[in-house]
Amino acid sequence: MTCSKFVKIKCPKCKKNAELTADFSFVKCENCDYEVSYGEYVKFVAHNDATYSDILGDYTGSTEGQSSGTLDEWD
Ligand SMILES: [Zn+2]
Repeated sequence: MTCSKFVKIKCPKCKKNAELTADFSFVKCENCDYEVSYGEYVKFVAHNDATYSDILGDYTGSTEGQSSGTLDEWD
């Protein structure tokens, strides 16, 4: 078994293909030399998402319709 597995992700900086180490510890893009820890990557993406969420405001409301179910437990 090899430990050098990578997950393909999109580089938040140049929008090309970047790699995330399989243990979710490090992100590396060979196109623009973007190299950060996964924590920094998440912060970077979260920041960008916050910008997008203004535009996608309508969309987020419709995804949470099925969370409240009824628990009928008979004893
Ligand atoms: Zn890049």
